[in-house]
Amino acid sequence: VKQEGKNNVFEYSLKKREEHARNALLERHLRTAVPNGELLLLYQPKLDLRAFETVGVEALLRWNHPTLGMIPPDEFIPLAERKGIIVDIGKWVLHRACSDIKALQQKGFASLHVAVNLSVIQLEKDDIVPVIADVLHLTGPAPRYLEIEITESAVMSKVEAVIEKLHALRDLKVSVAIDDFGTGYSSLSYLKRFPLSSLKVDKCFVHELGTQKADKTIAKAIIDLGHNLGLRVVAEGVETKEQLEILTAQECDEIQGYYISKPLELDNLEQFLLQKTDN
Ligand code: C2E
Ligand code: CA
Ligand code: CA
Ligand code: CA
Repeated sequence: VKQEGKNNVFEYSLKKREEHARNALLERHLRTAVPNGELLLLYQPKLDLRAFETVGVEALLRWNHPTLGMIPPDEFIPLAERKGIIVDIGKWVLHRACSDIKALQQKGFASLHVAVNLSVIQLEKDDIVPVIADVLHLTGPAPRYLEIEITESAVMSKVEAVIEKLHALRDLKVSVAIDDFGTGYSSLSYLKRFPLSSLKVDKCFVHELGTQKADKTIAKAIIDLGHNLGLRVVAEGVETKEQLEILTAQECDEIQGYYISKPLELDNLEQFLLQKTDN
């Protein structure tokens, strides 16, 4: 055991050093990812369960690195947040998402909504409300077609200021959704204090909806809680027909997940939307 322990310590420090080197490289390259045009957005359809129609999409960020390939957000967003680069990246995301939705609206998908994930770091910036207002003004969609998704986290230090900004966004008619509800720091007190329009049931409660009685109970409780607070409820991570059927029976408003569609590039999203309106 001792011997092994020694080896593990060695391997551990080697791993740490490799990780450190990769992070240093990613950080350096991340600073130029926006100007180099290496970022892209995928869009995942949101299905309204009552109308059985795609009512909106969520924008999901990817980094297409020239040598490392496609890097998922979980790998570079925390880094971008630590280094403050998330602010510029976030502006790019807002801009791209709003222009794309405007283009789709002009192609006939007139009432399609777009949801953009916003980092707490962005929300804590003093100018986030004018930044969003400017983006909307420049790109053209009516503000009610933009929704921001927020995940509260341990680092939300300026809660009062954030709440004020969320009210200002609501005054603009931008909607606010609370993401990953039921996990981490998404405490019930936020439901009372944040001006929200919807809440998203985290996929960890959806995955075993068909087999775990507890998950079914929790999902139903979150849906009813949301409705009683006047919010729309969206379930994410729906991968099976069974999950869709349970959520329909539980009167969930919207679902998102691989069962409907994986996140798509803009062209493919357009194809997806066209197919859906054909029949
Ligand atoms: P999220 O906002 O909770 O997004 C949902 C994640 O679940 C996405 O991962 C999506 O691709 C994935 N997903 C969708 N359907 C299914 C399904 O049926 N099954 C499973 N297992 N997963 C599904 P993705 O795209 O890797 O994004 C990860 C996280 O990165 C997001 O979690 C979000 O917190 C963050 N993120 C993505 N784009 C942005 C962005 O533009 N800005 C910021 N600040 N964060 C972003
Ligand atoms: Ca989200
Ligand atoms: Ca989520
Ligand atoms: Ca998440």
